[in-house]
Amino acid sequence: MVKDIKIFWLLIFIVSVTTCFAIYPPQPKGSIHVIYNNSSRTESIQTHTFDGNVFVNVQELNKAFHAAIQEDHLDNRVIVSMYNSQFIFLMESPYLFYPPEYYSMVYPMIYINERHYIPATFLTVLFPAILKNKIRYDEQKTELIVDLPIDNSIRRILIDPGHGGKDPGAVSFSRKNQEKKIVLQVALKLKKLLLKKMDVEVLLTRSDDCFIPLNKRTDFANKKQGDLFISLHCNSSRRKAANGIEVFVLATAKTDQARAVEALENSVVYEYEGGEEALQKYDDLSLILSDMAQTEQLEESIDLAIKLQANMVQETKATNRGVKQANFYVLRVSYMPAVLVELGFLSNKSEEKKLTNSAYQDKLVTAIYEAVKSFKQKHDMLQ
Ligand SMILES: [Zn+2]
Repeated sequence: MVKDIKIFWLLIFIVSVTTCFAIYPPQPKGSIHVIYNNSSRTESIQTHTFDGNVFVNVQELNKAFHAAIQEDHLDNRVIVSMYNSQFIFLMESPYLFYPPEYYSMVYPMIYINERHYIPATFLTVLFPAILKNKIRYDEQKTELIVDLPIDNSIRRILIDPGHGGKDPGAVSFSRKNQEKKIVLQVALKLKKLLLKKMDVEVLLTRSDDCFIPLNKRTDFANKKQGDLFISLHCNSSRRKAANGIEVFVLATAKTDQARAVEALENSVVYEYEGGEEALQKYDDLSLILSDMAQTEQLEESIDLAIKLQANMVQETKATNRGVKQANFYVLRVSYMPAVLVELGFLSNKSEEKKLTNSAYQDKLVTAIYEAVKSFKQKHDMLQ
């Protein structure tokens, strides 16, 4: 009886192996070419052979298909999202889970040198079979013919130097230094560094000393459809000892301190944009709508804010006042992560000196750049 069972399983094994070989053609060694419909762009996916089986590094799917890749080491699985579909690869398993079905890739995904390699059979057989209308594989030419993927990566960064023109923002007790000037200097330096180091477009709400109402800043952000919005400011307090860096994201829940900064930054509406009437204008339906849009981005905004805060404090050794939530007009932008950075207190003598120092500004700029870089890297892989 025992022997019979063994023979039974052996037969099953032989049948399944031969079926697999019958269905799955030999896998391409070298590379798989990717051709995009209606585009001159092409890509090439390198293949790797381990123990006679052909694999591709899962990260190559990001390059070729703008796939979002989540490597879940705790559950030993890799989740790949592309073309509005989610593919789940299981460690040491030849099965691909494409809910609600399991598909055999013949041999398992493997993990070598901290990289996940998925069987090439996924690309040449299952990918075209599952997404019949979007993907085709030409076995002779080892070509995958696909639709051009949608690119949601961060490409356009908006920087908003606060205040300007008739609105000086915070003014130091010495009356010598104004927020509008410092934040413009920092914004211009940041733009320069981002353009030099990253493949992104950088747009400023103002590049000189001009007055721009708050609603024009949010209009600009929404019209330009940026992928990231960073508003730069300097803080001020009647308490001369107050010092340090803080980063804000938009939310209604807030502390008394956050409310004080919010009142300060929003006061431009009252002082320079027509008082009560203008306030009324800003508090209408458009704000409620943009509030809602921003809520969707809140998680990402908080992620960016945490990175910014940590980097700036580390780089400058300034007091860490933390990431906070407040209801700023200027953060009411739609469909993009948005943060407001308070670079330091102009009302504090020692911080005033630092903020006007070019080398100190460079430190702030480097810290902001590093945070944006790390945020972009994570975002682009996990869109
Ligand atoms: Zn300000």
